[in-house]
Amino acid sequence: MFELDETHQAFESAVRAWCERELAPAVPAMERGEALPYPLLQKLGRELGIADALAATAERRLARLRSGASAPPRPAREDGNEETSGGGLGGDPLLTSVLFKELCRVSPGFGMVLMATLGCGMTILARGSADLVERYALPVLRFEKIGAWALTEPEAGSDAFGGMRTTAVRDGDGLRISGRKTFISNAPYADVLAVFARVEREGEDPVARPVVVERGTKGLETGPPLRKMGMHDSPTGDVFLDDCRVPLGSVVGSLESGKRARGAAALETLNLERAVMPSMCLGILERCVEESVRYARSRRQFGKTIGEFQGVAFPLARMALALENARNLVLKLAWAQKQGKLDARLASAAKLYCAEEATRAALAAVQIHGGAGYMADLPLEKLARDAKMFEIGGGTNEIQLQTIARSLLT
Ligand SMILES: Cc1cc2nc3c(=O)[nH]c(=O)nc-3n(C[C@H](O)[C@H](O)[C@H](O)COP(=O)(O)OP(=O)(O)OC[C@H]3O[C@@H](n4cnc5c(N)ncnc54)[C@H](O)[C@@H]3O)c2cc1C
Repeated sequence: MFELDETHQAFESAVRAWCERELAPAVPAMERGEALPYPLLQKLGRELGIADALAATAERRLARLRSGASAPPRPAREDGNEETSGGGLGGDPLLTSVLFKELCRVSPGFGMVLMATLGCGMTILARGSADLVERYALPVLRFEKIGAWALTEPEAGSDAFGGMRTTAVRDGDGLRISGRKTFISNAPYADVLAVFARVEREGEDPVARPVVVERGTKGLETGPPLRKMGMHDSPTGDVFLDDCRVPLGSVVGSLESGKRARGAAALETLNLERAVMPSMCLGILERCVEESVRYARSRRQFGKTIGEFQGVAFPLARMALALENARNLVLKLAWAQKQGKLDARLASAAKLYCAEEATRAALAAVQIHGGAGYMADLPLEKLARDAKMFEIGGGTNEIQLQTIARSLLT
């Protein structure tokens, strides 16, 4: 439980070597917007067997759906089911954690590109029909098509479901979608978008569901990449839907609105991010501690190594403490996912703690490196800019606190 076994260690070494060889040299051009991350994502999928593992999971699900099995009865990603457990590679959520940790040691932005891809593919896989899985989830999970997952709206961020204005109204045998989504990762280049909309139903109130929309559909436009504080290698943008007509079968999941169905939709949407983001933050923490220890041992001022000054040594000790706690939380999350015991409180607590500590540690690492830490030659200024996103995306710190408090008090 408290350390990686040989299989996970071997995977960690393979991903680390790939990141050093392929990702690190590509980051500066992607950060400057001179190269897109998607060819590299395909390379990652091919060379580390990730696309094959995800596709195999999707194909098993497809075979089950084709043979008449219905959607999973319990909320996806809470049920420990290999096909729906938050993108667990080969049914092992810890492999997913290791993958994201390693990517984010080098580029959290690139990790975000993968997370948005999985967010789209897994949303369709978890509850989509066989046709949706075959046509959209499979190519997205093979990294042949770029996926995006679009929940947030200009007027509906933290209150994403309550404030949702995007609608999908019945139009014969199809739906017409209208609305706007914002801050959507991969949106500027996405081929397949899982767009959340309030779907009209006969004789009942509308219900919020993901609806699959393909690029090229009339009425769908995406904006250019937005300028951001960090994660410059992860394109983020707006989605505009203006009477965008899609077949009725594009809705992911049933339109029934029982309490369980509503809860399942929300969990499916949010738990992947909240379960994966702690491992992304762990990657930032790990790298910051390593770089800072190395620098504190070698950099000399006033005739001493700077690590000999308490003002440098104590922040380092705090970073190491946070690293230990974050690692334990990531291991517990993976265990809970595997056992079908992941709940919203644990996911929110891990996401909150790891996001706060990664942000703090990255800024401390910049400080320990002085002027060199502020320069783009070292990875620390990017890690600090990128880390801040984890306190906002996937639900802000305040919303995680609200979720934890609610689970204690109700
Ligand atoms: C780089 C990036 C990538 C993203 N990618 C995606 C994506 O792929 N798909 C997607 O759907 N979304 C995405 N998002 C959107 C993200 O999930 C939202 O930004 C986030 O949920 C917050 O919503 P908001 O920005 O509207 O802030 P708001 O909800 O307007 O919040 C503003 C402030 O008010 C606080 N606040 C709000 N409600 C409460 C409350 N009840 N109690 C206390 N404080 C409160 C918040 O914590 C925050 O500090 C992305 C965001 C970023 C920055």
